[in-house]
Amino acid sequence: MTADTAIAQEPRIVTEIPGPRSRELHERRQAVVPPGVHSVMPIYIDRAHGSILVDVDGNHIVDVCGGIGVTTIGHTDEAVVAAATAQLNKVTHTLFTMTPYEPYIAVAEHLAKHVPGEGQYKTLLMNSGAEAVENGVKIARKYTGRPGVAVLEHAYHGRTLLTSSMNFKGAPYAAGYGPRVGDIYKAPNSYPLRDGLSGAEAAARTTAYLEKVAGAEDLACLVVEPIQGEGGFVVPADGYLPALAEWCRSNGIVFIADEVQAGIARSGAVFSIEHFGVQPDILLTAKGIAGGLPLAGITGRAEIMDASQPGGLGGTFGGNPVSCAAAVAVFEQIEAQGLLARAQHIEEVFGSGLRELAAQHPAIAEVRGKGAMLAIEIVKPGTLEHDPELVSRVIERAMGQGVLLLSAGIYSNVIRFLPSLQFTDELIATVLRVLDEAFAAEAA
Ligand code: PMP
Repeated sequence: MTADTAIAQEPRIVTEIPGPRSRELHERRQAVVPPGVHSVMPIYIDRAHGSILVDVDGNHIVDVCGGIGVTTIGHTDEAVVAAATAQLNKVTHTLFTMTPYEPYIAVAEHLAKHVPGEGQYKTLLMNSGAEAVENGVKIARKYTGRPGVAVLEHAYHGRTLLTSSMNFKGAPYAAGYGPRVGDIYKAPNSYPLRDGLSGAEAAARTTAYLEKVAGAEDLACLVVEPIQGEGGFVVPADGYLPALAEWCRSNGIVFIADEVQAGIARSGAVFSIEHFGVQPDILLTAKGIAGGLPLAGITGRAEIMDASQPGGLGGTFGGNPVSCAAAVAVFEQIEAQGLLARAQHIEEVFGSGLRELAAQHPAIAEVRGKGAMLAIEIVKPGTLEHDPELVSRVIERAMGQGVLLLSAGIYSNVIRFLPSLQFTDELIATVLRVLDEAFAAEAA
């Protein structure tokens, strides 16, 4: 069976949302899936292609979430499906730490080629973003011999015990699962809309905080999302990240760029840190790297990566051959399909459309983001007060029109857009029209 490339790239709603089949499945699930596994939109998906999801009731839904930034290359990209299928038919698992295979090395080579920085870079492959963060921290601790982990306000790094302790938002991610992991320091970030600080001022505030609260000499690493994902697509002020990287360098602290959401062509560069002119010591990838299959990369300067002893790193499924084959196809397609240019085009067309909306609807305080990673922050007009209720009502209205949107931000105060890089200008126009109508109806 091959990918369903015939799926029309437009919305089509044929039942109420969720439809009867989705409701039936949702009912069935209650008996066997715990409520801690929440589904934001209980529409059960049957198949997908490009930017369209088809649910079990036959509704065609415009996917502006991409499984939260995973299907960056588009759903069931033909090259990715072909590469994964070919690998499935060859060998699906041996365990790289037992009897290795070539696709793992090929992925590591692609990552080493693209990571911004001079010198040699090496990669450990795992399965998920949280595992990437866990291992980045482990490797930095081993290399530095220090315990402390610095993170930023509004950050999100995962839901394992370590990473849920690193998230800024304790509830729901860490609440009730304590004790939380110690030696984690949450420093103020740069949030231009709300702090009004220059990059240099915000960086001085961050580093002064860390020096006071943690002590620079106790810190193994600073983990930073160059553009914060769950935190609301917060783009730091110019100069902020270079100043933090410089401070890390002069204090022997490993600078870790968490590119799990913003990386792999999404922002219009292979890695979002490139926009800020910073060379990270360790760069973390997951989500979009294998076009929808589970894979995560921890790529770091050789000296840092080599500090770990044989057997200290790895895991049964880390760098699965099928995921690796898909990832190689993703890297090849970034070039073959001109995906960086596609992301830049989406920024231009979608971004300017959103700015026009912001000019008409005072609830939109700011349009921000890079490439196909864009967001609007929603406030009570004339103030900077959050309005999460308006966010959820707009998302609900859009869903009724067959457009799947997602919130973000610590206060659920942001609507984020993570379209695939196959997202057409027609689909952008559809999303903008649906948003325009939703904001107008809410203001009426
Ligand atoms: N880091 C960032 C920046 C993320 O956005 C996420 C997931 N939203 C993670 C880490 C965790 O990734 P995963 O869900 O694959 O564990």
